[in-house]
Amino acid sequence: MRPERSINGIFILTLFAILAMVSCQNKENAESPLLEPLTKSNYLLGTNITLTLYGPGSESVFDKIFDRIAQIEETMSLQRPDSVLSSIRNAAGDKAVQVPADVYKVIESAIDMAKRSGGAFDPAIGPLVAAWDITGNPRVPDLSEIESLLGLIDWKDIVLDEAASTVFLKKKGMAIDLGAIAKGYAADEAARIARESGIKSALLDLGGNLFVIGAKPGRDNWRIGIQNPDGQRGLSLGIVPAVDASAVTSGAYERFFEQDGKRYHHILSPFTGYPSESGLLQVSIVSGKESMYCDGLSTACFVLGLEKGMELVESMDGYEAIMVSTDHQVYLSSGLKENFTLTDTDYTLAK
Ligand code: AMP
Ligand code: MG
Repeated sequence: MRPERSINGIFILTLFAILAMVSCQNKENAESPLLEPLTKSNYLLGTNITLTLYGPGSESVFDKIFDRIAQIEETMSLQRPDSVLSSIRNAAGDKAVQVPADVYKVIESAIDMAKRSGGAFDPAIGPLVAAWDITGNPRVPDLSEIESLLGLIDWKDIVLDEAASTVFLKKKGMAIDLGAIAKGYAADEAARIARESGIKSALLDLGGNLFVIGAKPGRDNWRIGIQNPDGQRGLSLGIVPAVDASAVTSGAYERFFEQDGKRYHHILSPFTGYPSESGLLQVSIVSGKESMYCDGLSTACFVLGLEKGMELVESMDGYEAIMVSTDHQVYLSSGLKENFTLTDTDYTLAK
């Protein structure tokens, strides 16, 4: 009987020790941010979205974020015949369409970006995007087709009525494309939901459209890797340390096709109707402000080119730029001069 009792004693003690360890671990899980993060991916907005969340309760946050991004895709994609953007296009030249507050806000911001960039960024680019169809059946449209479509590309022909929350396109055949700004808005929304759910540290990657929340656990910042213009994701051009910030890159290499030995990419000049050739390979915008504006700015600057693009960035408080020219020079806006480390020796920092 005695030995048995002592075995039971050891067993009970061991059980207590295990329970104590488990409860200790739970306490650690609940209070310490120094945990392995949870990561989940989903294909939405035409891109791979990967969310890395740290901290307690993050499991339930993924669905909330992915559901919201899916909702943004449903309303703001021109590819979906039932989207809000499609109904605005279908009513072009005919009548105004009442739109939800979020769609109104993104269109209003896109028009603001068009004004600031002198039309280099133009949300009315829809008909040209459809003609080139770079993500579907890409082709080089005839010059005469491009010339006639250019008559439909003008953000000034988008009429907003804030009180009624309506959007009206003045000419039949016009269409609003938010492809250059909607991912940024989705990143802002993802970050809002994560923060409201108590997440203090996260890395939200919407296909190269990055948003970091807080600092990386155990560090005092995140080290954001700026994408390499060679298009090899994962290999960075350089590093920017940041806390609560967004970094968005526009590059000619992201979506393109080749015909007769020539490359045609997805960022179009509203002035010529052809893929923009401004001497830049890539533009990245970094900011602690809205990712939506980072997204809009990166596309706008890509079309504007180095000088006018830098002028635009310097005019917008809190937004910084890293621009790479076709001759592999890297240009930084004034706020990044001390904060960017070049890591790829194929490129040189411009003086
Ligand atoms: P991004 O990758 O953010 O630079 O956005 C590129 C996408 O925006 C394209 O795939 C088009 O849908 C759209 N787009 C192309 N050119 C322009 C432009 N000049 N202004 C606004 N949107 C554009
Ligand atoms: Mg953009």
